[in-house]
Amino acid sequence: MIVGIDLGTTNSLVAVWKDGGPRLVPNALGSFLTPSCVGVDDDGQILIGEAARERLQTHPQRTASLFKRHMGSMRTSRLADRDYRPEELSALVLRSLKADAEAFLGEAVTEAVITVPAYFSDAQRKATRVAGELAGLKVERLLNEPTAAALAYGLHDGGTETQFLVFDLGGGTFDVSILEMFDGVMEVRASACDNMLGGEDFANLLVEQAFANGIPDKARNDAVFMQRLVARAESAKRDIGANGSASFDVRWENSEANVALDAEAFEKLSQPLMDRLWRPIERALRDARIRAADLNNVVLAGGATRMPMIRALATRMFGRFPVIGLNPDEVVALGAAVQAGLKMKDKALEETVMTDVCPYTLGTGVIKRLDNGSHAEGFYAPIIQRNTVVPVSRVQRFFPVSAEQKAIRIDVYQGESRLVRDNIKLGELDVQVQPGPGHADGVDVRFTYDVNGLLEVEVMVVATGIVQRLVIESGETHMSPEEIAKRLATLSALKIHPRDTLENRALLARAERLYEQLLGDMREHVGQMILHFEQTLTTQDTQRIARDAEAFRKALASIETDGYFAPDPGA
Ligand code: ADP
Ligand code: MG
Repeated sequence: MIVGIDLGTTNSLVAVWKDGGPRLVPNALGSFLTPSCVGVDDDGQILIGEAARERLQTHPQRTASLFKRHMGSMRTSRLADRDYRPEELSALVLRSLKADAEAFLGEAVTEAVITVPAYFSDAQRKATRVAGELAGLKVERLLNEPTAAALAYGLHDGGTETQFLVFDLGGGTFDVSILEMFDGVMEVRASACDNMLGGEDFANLLVEQAFANGIPDKARNDAVFMQRLVARAESAKRDIGANGSASFDVRWENSEANVALDAEAFEKLSQPLMDRLWRPIERALRDARIRAADLNNVVLAGGATRMPMIRALATRMFGRFPVIGLNPDEVVALGAAVQAGLKMKDKALEETVMTDVCPYTLGTGVIKRLDNGSHAEGFYAPIIQRNTVVPVSRVQRFFPVSAEQKAIRIDVYQGESRLVRDNIKLGELDVQVQPGPGHADGVDVRFTYDVNGLLEVEVMVVATGIVQRLVIESGETHMSPEEIAKRLATLSALKIHPRDTLENRALLARAERLYEQLLGDMREHVGQMILHFEQTLTTQDTQRIARDAEAFRKALASIETDGYFAPDPGA
């Protein structure tokens, strides 16, 4: 069984292809969304998902989130007494999803389709593969997220010829893709992205209101305060969408601030962010050579598209109502499950074929002869143009600059700029050439970009036919097989809270957060409930634990919503 996984910046989901359709898998807490958060408990055990997310506020030094942003980089997160690479934190999330799928299916799960943002670089894609390996999952396919969203909808539409635009506004990225579907063949025509724009930025606007309204700047260094303020802003953002307005108070040392906004004021505040949504859309339309009016459908994906002002904007942008038959934060996972179904050659999917594009230009650096006869280096020579259908293999011949030259350096870059210094360097390869007859024949540089978005570079010296290969390993961020094995061993040695205790851990973490937020009698009351529930847990009486957990949850919920005191659970 191959599972489909949406490994998101904010939330991750797993889905399976079952009984002829994609099915979302609930986690141990019964939710389809598992927050992409990892924490270390006070007794050294690893917490993943909701329980860890609750502890972001109370234990910022022992909890990590948003690590997808650092995939493919060397940046590590320190949790308790150990540094974790982003691959490892992602692997822990994947392991948790794998366990959920195994519990759901009643069988072992060892293969997965994992989605990645369309703009993920080669290094980021490789890091995602490694994360899969570290979680004990063979990554059957890396699938672009907007492609997955369209795949989930493509089946639903089942129509003849359609051109979609996928508008995916997640927690931290905005991806736009234009896809075309005809006779069951789906092709990605173009994709563009702003990877510094997402739902979080809208919540941050509300965070900034607190500083504008009286909280001093130095409170920004107080990690616990900041996590709490972000959580307040996040729920206010949702309230504005649901109820048309929101208001909250925050306090830091002796300063206090009130943040109150209605939908109109929030939209005005959000205007600069909303304006930024245009840029990737225009670029994708231009690359696909499609006018907005020619689109048959606009598909919304990503939790942030639940905001009514975003939906209204999308409607205005394209002059039509977007498709919203599926939940926007679930479509990518559903599409991943469809791809998994395709991989398993499910009968119901026989007609669907998928093609994708390379989302950025790949090329090499060259030296140019100037008009005055001198040479200047650092120019970009594109080999694979952005939005070429993959898999693709392109070859281009390059020549030595001088007759005495003994080696040619092939630098590999990703990007759209004219000068290589403005693009991202992926790797380099030095090729020996023999000065002498045939020297001037140069080298053939072949770039091969596969369906997973992985690049291989092959250089052949024309005179000798000798081939050298460079699998892009993105320098220092690359993990060797030995290193992966070592990390796998350490990860396996970590104690992870068993799946069946996660729900209770999440409840306790939530109560601890409330304890820190409340004051006086209420705080004392929550403290009592925590103590009581901890004692219940030690009885190992499953029925009693389940009963108390339910009462505990209700009591916490009522305190959270209106401060009302429910009777002490079990009292
Ligand atoms: P990612 O793909 O980054 O993991 P998701 O698609 O799960 O993210 O979207 C997460 C974002 O969606 C968060 O910024 C969250 O605030 C936002 N979001 C989810 N539900 C709502 C809602 N009801 N109103 C506004 N924003 C929401
Ligand atoms: Mg997403």
